[in-house]
Amino acid sequence: MSQMSVAIVGAGIAGLAFAAALQRAGVDFHIYEQAPRLSEVGAGVQLAPNAARELHRLGLAEALATVAVAPQAIEIRRWDDGTSLQRTPLGAECVARFGAPYYTLHRADLHSALLSLLPLKRVHLAARCVAVTPRADSVRLDLSNGTTVVADLVVGADGIHSVVREHLAPDRPRYSGQTIYRGLVPAERVPHLLTEPRVQLWFGPGRHCVCYPVSAGRLVSFGATVAEPDWREESWSAQGSVRELTSSYMGWHEDVTRLIGAAEAVSRWALHDRESLPRLQSGRVAVIGDAAHPMLPFRAQGANQAIEDAVSLARFLAEAGRCGLREALLAYEHLRFPRTNRIQRESRDSARTFHLADGDAQRQRDDGARASSSLGDQQWLFGYDADQAATNRATLARDIG
Ligand SMILES: Cc1cc2nc3c(=O)[nH]c(=O)nc-3n(C[C@H](O)[C@H](O)[C@H](O)COP(=O)(O)OP(=O)(O)OC[C@H]3O[C@@H](n4cnc5c(N)ncnc54)[C@H](O)[C@@H]3O)c2cc1C
Repeated sequence: MSQMSVAIVGAGIAGLAFAAALQRAGVDFHIYEQAPRLSEVGAGVQLAPNAARELHRLGLAEALATVAVAPQAIEIRRWDDGTSLQRTPLGAECVARFGAPYYTLHRADLHSALLSLLPLKRVHLAARCVAVTPRADSVRLDLSNGTTVVADLVVGADGIHSVVREHLAPDRPRYSGQTIYRGLVPAERVPHLLTEPRVQLWFGPGRHCVCYPVSAGRLVSFGATVAEPDWREESWSAQGSVRELTSSYMGWHEDVTRLIGAAEAVSRWALHDRESLPRLQSGRVAVIGDAAHPMLPFRAQGANQAIEDAVSLARFLAEAGRCGLREALLAYEHLRFPRTNRIQRESRDSARTFHLADGDAQRQRDDGARASSSLGDQQWLFGYDADQAATNRATLARDIG
């Protein structure tokens, strides 16, 4: 291990992936997680090749092949008659083009796979970070359990409601006007959706629905998004009603209504957004994942970008002994900012375009979708190699320095 010590706040996908990448790079770390035990919400997550590639490199190829599904295509359909608007092939073509599959999996399986890479003694539970105090040559972390930790660097991987982020900007999360209902359905209840493993989306006025198989094909995960101007509950997640959700999708294609109706329960989530941060680091504090750039889930890239952040920052920190911590953090910010900013913006735009009412704008959107169904159109997103990009930049800095 190098001399540097990193305190990671949050053991979500970003925090665990970052810890695994630091471990690979030989950098010392500890994770502080507020929850008394590690768990993930009962829902699915899509992992595109840009993140799957990094997880394979971290040693998770076998684990992912066991628990995930590699869908054959992503298909967008019309809300009422189910007409296909766009079909992007995945499967073998995806692996051939990008060197890694597209996966759909249960979030808990991803979480467990990441955790399996780490020594548990480095993951401290019931350790909520309540204050971060940067000092000249170190940073202090105060935890809710009364403990104080001193490290060389604190990295906030503490999600959209991040405490660490408060060091970088005073903004607050704001409700996006969209609510998502998430559910899991046993595969045998929805055979009509499983003639081939694929990600399916239905676009319609004021709402859309996405579903895909998870848990090695045993379950189907769905997310049904509804434009709802107000969120009245105090908490940002709550139990939803299958009956009310089904009736709010009345008139939609029967593939959607049968899917929702097959759920025993749904959870209801207020989707929040935040401004882009002007910077991703300051002094001895940096942020990754949703703490850095929360994204509305409509490009399915939030976790993917968290994993990209994790491997890039770890790569730069491994060079900090040579180039200094400040240079390493600046390099991370310069590399990650334009890319995450673009995806954050596109995710926001999708919230509008997915939900267009039938009419000219919707027809234009659908024509555009039909014209861009090639996997090659996703090169910039799926073909991006975060680890290579960071290594190239670090090597360049070393050569110039
Ligand atoms: C409905 C929905 C669907 C999505 N689908 C996809 C998808 O298909 N593909 C994709 O790539 N992304 C998707 N995303 C986005 C993705 O879920 C997030 O981007 C990702 O989970 C962010 O991970 P994170 O580790 O940064 O944050 P989180 O997952 O929020 O983890 C933060 C962790 O920090 C802990 N924590 C918080 N505060 C503190 C504190 N003060 N002290 C200590 N610990 C703390 C929390 O308990 C938690 O464990 C989706 C999001 C939503 C809402």
